[in-house]
Amino acid sequence: MRRKGAHAIIGHRAARVPVQSMSSVSDIHDSNCMIVVGAGVAGLAAARRLRRAGKRVLVLEQADMVGGRVQTAMIAGCQYELGAEFLASFYTRTLALIAELGLNHELRPIPSRAAVFRAGRLHTLWPNPRVALTRLIRTRNKLSLSYLVGSLMRHNGLLDLQRFARAYPIDDTDVSTYAARHLSDELLEYVLQPALSGIFYWTPERTSRALLLIVLRAGLSRPTGLQLLTLRKGLNQLPQAMAHDLDVRQAVRVRAVERYSHGFLVRTSGGAAPTELRCAGVVVATTAAVVPQLCPWLDADRLEFFRAVRYSRTAQLTVGAANLPQSHYGLLFPRRETPFLASATLQGVKNPHSSPPGREAFCLHMSGPAANALHELDNDRLAALMLSELRRLLPAYYPGDPLFRQVSRWPEALPEFDVGHFARLQHFAEGAIELPGLTFAGDYVGGPFIEGAIVSGEQAAERLLQL
Ligand SMILES: Cc1cc2nc3c(=O)[nH]c(=O)nc-3n(C[C@H](O)[C@H](O)[C@H](O)COP(=O)(O)OP(=O)(O)OC[C@H]3O[C@@H](n4cnc5c(N)ncnc54)[C@H](O)[C@@H]3O)c2cc1C
Repeated sequence: MRRKGAHAIIGHRAARVPVQSMSSVSDIHDSNCMIVVGAGVAGLAAARRLRRAGKRVLVLEQADMVGGRVQTAMIAGCQYELGAEFLASFYTRTLALIAELGLNHELRPIPSRAAVFRAGRLHTLWPNPRVALTRLIRTRNKLSLSYLVGSLMRHNGLLDLQRFARAYPIDDTDVSTYAARHLSDELLEYVLQPALSGIFYWTPERTSRALLLIVLRAGLSRPTGLQLLTLRKGLNQLPQAMAHDLDVRQAVRVRAVERYSHGFLVRTSGGAAPTELRCAGVVVATTAAVVPQLCPWLDADRLEFFRAVRYSRTAQLTVGAANLPQSHYGLLFPRRETPFLASATLQGVKNPHSSPPGREAFCLHMSGPAANALHELDNDRLAALMLSELRRLLPAYYPGDPLFRQVSRWPEALPEFDVGHFARLQHFAEGAIELPGLTFAGDYVGGPFIEGAIVSGEQAAERLLQL
């Protein structure tokens, strides 16, 4: 899914189990045995739930580490994230899981400062009251925020972070059209667009207003305000802990999931010989695009559900830098200022213990449209382009001759919650997509972040247990 460079990835590398040594597994055709495809946080959450219900569970993962899009890396003593960057205080299920796993002492609050770049300056956008104080947008345009607050109140009952399908009645327009009608161009281009681009690599034209309202409501729902969080040794600590006492087979690619008279047949490759495993039920916890490859026998309506999900793309350039300004953790770049950069994060501000004194990993994220247009560019040219753009916009952040340089790519970064996706989720919630013994999990079902993936995994396991 992504190209890896020479960095060390801090992942859970259980001893590799050659596929042919899984012969015992091919016996698992009693009703107690379940297979989970994918050891991202969705798959691991599903597996934990199934095991708690007394099932025998095997997780099959094509990569040689767990975590999927939650990967922490280390280079020259500097720790940084390759995928997911932070947790949010409204991730109630994720935080409960962290407590269950005994990881509470590893949680670290991230200093709450994010800024938007406009006309040569950084404007602090957050913590919360700053959006009212900042000079980023004109006062009369700030007033249009009251329309958003009114919308949140009007649709409150539909905005449920654990049940995205409920927002289907307001999945009627994209954020760009919605802003043109009810907000302001400035609010769109200097607040909403950079936030959607910097966090999800999406455009407002391909984001449903339902998604915007769900996320805003979640962000404003905590009486203590929104807090971003990380784990001391990086976010991959979470999938590692989730996988700890599960039977996870790494470097095993599932090629097909087929029905047979007593359950399902899972065909794998990854060892010297292909293997067939029989089980009573399967949770497929991959990205949506993988499902039609594994289950081409699904009917056209079901296949269309998975094929309709589109993903944003991004590329990340991580450089080792010294003496960067330490005033903000996250920087957001509006498309009106640059077509190339979406956001940047300073890993040393985020977690001062993640790097040796005086240096840190500085991560630059490419915008979705630029990553699509430039995906054939080689790593050196991509890095040079991003660095020269950074130098043009914010010379104080330009690392000069960096201590190290690393490019990583995500061709499937975040599933787009575009207009129509909530209707698809409603179809899914009505039971039109899954089959007895076969359920699906992933952030494209549960919400485009770690919380959504975990919730979707647990819910997919519950549905499997009910069948
Ligand atoms: C750059 C980036 C930044 C992000 N930032 C944040 C953030 O700050 N906060 C946040 O909450 N979320 C963030 N996210 C989103 C978050 O990482 C994802 O929503 C979440 O990790 C998805 O989990 P998942 O289990 O659904 O999918 P994945 O993590 O994609 O897991 C799917 C797994 O299935 C495996 N697989 C696929 N096909 C097969 C096969 N045939 N056989 C066996 N295994 C297979 C894959 O290798 C993978 O391990 C970010 C994502 C990216 C890419």
